[in-house]
Amino acid sequence: MHYSYQNLELYLVPLRTDNYSYVIHDRAKNKTLVIDPSETEALITFLNQHKFGLDLIIDTHHHNDHTEGNIGLQKTFDSAIVCSDYDHEKNRIPGKVRQTLRDGDTLAFSDYNFQVYSTPGHTLGHICLLLEGANWLFCGDTLFALGCGRLFEGDPTTMWDSFKKLRALPDDSLVFCGHEYTLANARFAEEIMPQIPGLHAYVESQKKRQATEGRTVPSRLADEKTFNPFFLADSPIMSRLGSNPEEIFGAIRKQKDNFQ
Ligand code: ZN
Ligand code: FE
Repeated sequence: MHYSYQNLELYLVPLRTDNYSYVIHDRAKNKTLVIDPSETEALITFLNQHKFGLDLIIDTHHHNDHTEGNIGLQKTFDSAIVCSDYDHEKNRIPGKVRQTLRDGDTLAFSDYNFQVYSTPGHTLGHICLLLEGANWLFCGDTLFALGCGRLFEGDPTTMWDSFKKLRALPDDSLVFCGHEYTLANARFAEEIMPQIPGLHAYVESQKKRQATEGRTVPSRLADEKTFNPFFLADSPIMSRLGSNPEEIFGAIRKQKDNFQ
């Protein structure tokens, strides 16, 4: 399954049990990148099948299920690796890093640009990237469809700030997140905010996508802003959970951590 924008083709590559790696290919310039290479061999096979090289590897954060392919792919295709300045300083990105990114940077790829957003919370070096024009949002393990990443390094205040940054992005952005967790997140969303109009119908539509397409990614950012409980920490719907959005965000995250 893939998406197109001008000369670009975007391929979703499902790897491991629930990870997505994203391959973007520029047909006109024959340039290719991968975001979050979750595995080595499967991606080499994918690239060879399509007769693509690999110019660029982008890591949203250092976790192994997002960077494991770095070394093998760099060795095979002589790819450049880019990551956050924080993860590079911590020396936790495998392979040889070519360029580091910080909040507000622009990353050029072929004739296109990514806007870079620092989104700490899941990890402190996490970045999200928005491809300008296409409005494809690559958000790793910060924002999931109807959910958010676990707070391994950041606290609720940090992650809530990151979510507010993402909420300011265009409604028509497509959310290409790091994992297929949507239906589990949907069960939690329906439990914690059953009163939201339209949520049940939205969840049913995602179940249908899962059944027919085998996946629910990408979602539309507008739907996340409406139905993702973590975007609603400052909404009256959640006010019973605390006295300020930071506290409420933390309470939602904690309930999700304990949700079976
Ligand atoms: Zn992660
Ligand atoms: Fe992950």
